[in-house]
Amino acid sequence: MDKIVSLCKRRGFVFPASEIYGGIANTYDYGHYGVLLKREVIDAWWRSMLVARDDIVALDSAIIQHPRTWEASGHLAGFTDPLVDCRTCGLRFRADHLDVSACGRRPSKHPGQTSDCDLTEARAFNLMFQTTIGPVAEEGATVFLRPETAQGIFLDFKTVLGFARRKPPFGIAQVGKSFRNEITPGNFIFRTLEFEQMEMEFFVPPDEAEHWYEHWLRARMDWYSELGLRGDHLRLRAHDADELSHYSCATSDVEYLFPIGWSELEGVANRGDFDLTQHAAHAGEKLEYFDQGSGQRYVPHVIEPAAGVGRSVLAFLCDAYDEDEIGGELRTVLRLHPRLAPVKVAVLPLLRKDGHPEAARALHAALKAAAIQSEYDEGGAIGRRYRRQDEIGTPWAATVDHQTLQDGTVTLRDRDTLEQERIAAADLPGELATRLQAPWRSPKP
Ligand code: ATP
Repeated sequence: MDKIVSLCKRRGFVFPASEIYGGIANTYDYGHYGVLLKREVIDAWWRSMLVARDDIVALDSAIIQHPRTWEASGHLAGFTDPLVDCRTCGLRFRADHLDVSACGRRPSKHPGQTSDCDLTEARAFNLMFQTTIGPVAEEGATVFLRPETAQGIFLDFKTVLGFARRKPPFGIAQVGKSFRNEITPGNFIFRTLEFEQMEMEFFVPPDEAEHWYEHWLRARMDWYSELGLRGDHLRLRAHDADELSHYSCATSDVEYLFPIGWSELEGVANRGDFDLTQHAAHAGEKLEYFDQGSGQRYVPHVIEPAAGVGRSVLAFLCDAYDEDEIGGELRTVLRLHPRLAPVKVAVLPLLRKDGHPEAARALHAALKAAAIQSEYDEGGAIGRRYRRQDEIGTPWAATVDHQTLQDGTVTLRDRDTLEQERIAAADLPGELATRLQAPWRSPKP
């Protein structure tokens, strides 16, 4: 993990927020390449939900909803973590993340400490951030920053049903920020106070819930595999009965083998009719579907795949990180799926003279006109420029040289195989567009 964190900072993918003030716990900023990578992950998700299917519509609901939302959803009463304090060192832990002897197992945080932690009893700690609408804190309405995007979807179920011209089974998908007052520190962007979620609520006739639950488990596993995560680093884990959330009939986590061990990447839950029934009761509004064909009226059941953008980004980075040796020199390379790579192609003039920069800039412009994220770089030795692109995961580099000026071809270097081929510059946008659509597998063992 240290290597990933350091690469992310060095190349400006992700770095601690508020750093000039010493940082703020579990909060990070995304720089240029981080934003591009994150955008590709989100685009890939939307593609799988909206472009590849006809039965899902999009939504962007508000972050601050009516406070009664969280009463009905159960978050006000039940969205808590069990919190314990250590009387010896003053640190705070999640009781469900601890083995008995926390102190002994975390020597770096407990200098000189050899005995076990002296832990308090666990207290329930609500994870929702609270704020106030209105100028006077005491008189204003207490509201909450949403801890998941899903509830906005349930509140809008009836409205969306009205204009979407869909009937169950159909889904509503949303990507947006959620907020949780997480008390477990560390692990980079795995767990942050604010994070983007990619959530889809799939509304189905009750007797089809099991079928669609299985469907979405498979579909979500396939999504990660197709984007290059290695099969032996990816697994599904069904929750035991005592692990299930208050709303869930069945949940499985898509887990990835992070450097911190197997951990949740995404949750796929069968939420039953819990949410629609709760909101219907609290709001006094019928949230059901009437099937005119069969004359049946029912509250749809909901299957929810809920993924985190930052956590996915971290998994893709971990899976892609590699080191090898070229000409006796250590190379760091991100073997990202080309579709996820922040930059698709680097355009490099071999020399900063003799017409190379002009030809390279023309190629760069042609790639941009074809909507291919291209980066022009003329600074430094060619080997160093390749190395830099390898570190940010750029799958191809096109080098403009003397021959380019004679026959219009460039050298195209492949990040993973290191093979170089000559290709007509004029063909490059089309060739790369084709390659970006092709299936891809990680070359890592
Ligand atoms: P965990 O057990 O790790 O706290 P969770 O089961 O509470 O996660 P869900 O409520 O199922 O998480 O949220 C769905 C997804 O949102 C998670 O699988 C994860 O990818 C992402 N997510 C949840 N909390 C955070 C967070 N604090 N930071 C980053 N991503 C998060």
